[in-house]
Amino acid sequence: MLMHDPSSDLRLRKALEGSGHRFTEQRAAVYRFLADTDVHPTADEVYLAVRQDLTRISLATVYKSLETLVGCGLAVKLTYGDNSARYDGRTDPHHHARCLNCGRVVDIHGKIADSEIEGLQSGTAGFTVTGFRLELSGYCATCVPEGGPDPLHA
Ligand code: ZN
Ligand code: MN
Repeated sequence: MLMHDPSSDLRLRKALEGSGHRFTEQRAAVYRFLADTDVHPTADEVYLAVRQDLTRISLATVYKSLETLVGCGLAVKLTYGDNSARYDGRTDPHHHARCLNCGRVVDIHGKIADSEIEGLQSGTAGFTVTGFRLELSGYCATCVPEGGPDPLHA
C-alpha cells in the first residue's frame, strides 16, 4: 500500500463526519488515490487502482464513494455530454484541457480575468451568471495527429 499522510485521513474523517457520513477504509482509499493523482480518472480507473489494495471493493462502492466525496466538497466531478465523468481531487478553482481523441483531461494553469467573463455575459438579459467552466479542447502529446492538428486561429 502507498504511504500516505495521516493528516489527510484526519481531514477526510472531519469532512465526512461533518456531512453525516462515516469514515470507511473504502472511502479513504478512494480519497487517497484521487488526492495523489492529477490524471482526472473515471470511476472505472479509480476502481482498477483501488482494487490493488482493497481486493474485495466493488465498482458500485467506488462509484458511491466518489459521489460521497463530491458531496462533501472533497472532490469535483467533471461531466461530459457523452455521459462519461471524471473525478478531480483538486477542488480549488482551475481549468482543464481535454483530448478530443482519448478523453484525457489535464489541468491548465492560466487564469481568466473576471472582467473577461463580464465581457462575455454583457448583453445576456435575464440570466444571472454565478460561475463558469472553461475547457480547452485539442490533442494530448500521445494523440496529436500526423502532420499536426489545425491550430486555433485567434
Ligand atoms: Zn489523447
Ligand atoms: Mn483538475
